[in-house]
Amino acid sequence: MDSKLTKDLTVCSPPSDPLAELLRRNGKFSKAWQQAVNAPTASQRMELTKSIFTAGCQINPAALAEGQKPWAALLSCADARVAPEWIFAAGSGELFQVRGAGNTAFDDAIASMEYAVAVLEVPLILVMGHSACGAVKAAIASDPLTPLLEDLVKPIRASLKPGDDLTKAIQGNALYATATLSQRSEVLKKAQASGKVSIKSAYFDIGTGKVTVI
Ligand SMILES: [Zn+2]
Repeated sequence: MDSKLTKDLTVCSPPSDPLAELLRRNGKFSKAWQQAVNAPTASQRMELTKSIFTAGCQINPAALAEGQKPWAALLSCADARVAPEWIFAAGSGELFQVRGAGNTAFDDAIASMEYAVAVLEVPLILVMGHSACGAVKAAIASDPLTPLLEDLVKPIRASLKPGDDLTKAIQGNALYATATLSQRSEVLKKAQASGKVSIKSAYFDIGTGKVTVI
């Protein structure tokens, strides 16, 4: 990638600390999100929510047509309420994302993160669980599931600890997926050991819109 393109693609990147930048932007989102609770109409709620982008940053689409240089990678749930661009007030080209129900470290998710780190040189992977996660609820319950859903909840069940309430179980599942990334991937393990990538876990509370590092 030539230096002009790299410069154009990193115009929105945080100077040094990607995790601090995610949390700073989430602070803007959660404030607007909480204000939206008391807005009487759907369009007023949208005005408040999209106000997080007014001081935002968008990489030039012409540069994005040539490449990508995201500054953080997210492994998060498929849940419709857990959209990373909103939660972190990010424009196109900033966040590399893998989403699947229950934010588990499934094989293709690990492979995607290997690509993010080895090729795109993303300095941070954040594994993010969220409140009221249906996949974790399904893992805790003993209702019959399809064979593929049984496979999906296997690692979530492996992460469960006796006596955990739903919140603890969701956080435990995020920590388990975080550990799995470097246990299953030599690329990620080496990158983490050398400081090339930092792999962290977080919890998103839908009600307050706040992300907490766990
Ligand atoms: Zn979920």
